Amino acid sequence: MNKQAKPESLAFFNNWAEQSLLALDMAKEQSQLIVGAFCTYAPLEIIRAAGAVPVSLCGKRQEPISEAERILPANLCPLIKSSFGYAVTETCPFYNASDILIGETTCDGKKKMFEILKKLKPFYLLHLPYSQTDPAALALWKDQVWSMKLFMEKQTGKNITQQDLQHQILKYNEQRRLLKSIAWLMADHPVPVKGMDLLPVFESSSFVVDMARYIQSLENLFKDLSELKKSGFSACPENAPRILLTGCPIGKGSEKVLRLIEECGGVVVCMENCTGIKSFDLLVEEQGDPYHNLALRYLRTPCSCMTPNQGRFDLVRQLAQEFKVNGIIDQTWQFCHTYNVESNSIQDMAANTLNLPFMHIDTDYSDNDTEQLRTRIEAFLEMIS
Ligand code: SF4
Ligand code: SF4
Repeated sequence: MNKQAKPESLAFFNNWAEQSLLALDMAKEQSQLIVGAFCTYAPLEIIRAAGAVPVSLCGKRQEPISEAERILPANLCPLIKSSFGYAVTETCPFYNASDILIGETTCDGKKKMFEILKKLKPFYLLHLPYSQTDPAALALWKDQVWSMKLFMEKQTGKNITQQDLQHQILKYNEQRRLLKSIAWLMADHPVPVKGMDLLPVFESSSFVVDMARYIQSLENLFKDLSELKKSGFSACPENAPRILLTGCPIGKGSEKVLRLIEECGGVVVCMENCTGIKSFDLLVEEQGDPYHNLALRYLRTPCSCMTPNQGRFDLVRQLAQEFKVNGIIDQTWQFCHTYNVESNSIQDMAANTLNLPFMHIDTDYSDNDTEQLRTRIEAFLEMIS
């Protein structure tokens, strides 16, 4: 892509985290509580309705892992070790700024790590059920969401009204709709940007302090990218293999597979994982009991910690068709048992339902296997070109 083609509104997101830190300082000065959350299941609307600011503490970098391994086993998913490592080394400014932490009982590694983490900072645990279809699971989760509301009210001293919550539901839905509109600009040729360009945009939703400014920035970006697309500009040749990336969350510092796919001539038109579409695809119903609607929406998040996890299969199938992909790459983190086991079934679906080439990559945050992965990815892309 020629550099001039990248709009300012896109470059703006490259240092979004740094900008957010400044805004976070101001929020703290105004005595707003900062709440660190670890997962897509955290109902952010409640945190904000209580007048607090949510930030994501999901570790995406290799650096703090060695310190984490002094306490946690080395054969644990790098995302858990990185998140924990940032906490024990106090090297993540978002962790340092957090007054309280919120976690959920998702995978085993994470929930056991939380047992240690809660010794470091005030911690609130949401008990997430593993069924998305059992009415008793929804009832339990709704109760958990309500208890979190009571907890947040106690922490902030602010009573959360139905109106406050409804307002936040509308704002978050607006944000999700914009992220979806931006993501869907990649659904057909020409693609105005590459997957690597969209990574900081999708990641930015984890560090929003000033929601109004954020929504405006997304609107600017959508407008600029839509114009670029309409002008016929394409960030890659028309015959570049269009890849759907699914699996574990990635981010700045752990984006090697995404980067390699695009360095090898492919284009990631769609990220189904928690960094991408999975986190903003579902909207909260805007009519009716907001607590029920929140519980329903968040419980439907299609993560492999659910059993069964039909939602992920439905989403991957829908996205593969809508984004007209030429292949699916499932990227899992080493020792993430749930995504690793599920990979076999995703492969089955790719082969038997979608008739699409599939590759499973199991890796970690280090660069040790980069060249080996490059060779595998090159061969995969060559096969499907
Ligand atoms: S993959 Fe699952 S456990 Fe991990 S952040 Fe997403 S929803 Fe949470
Ligand atoms: S990537 Fe897998 S093991 Fe790691 S935190 Fe997410 S669900 Fe758990």
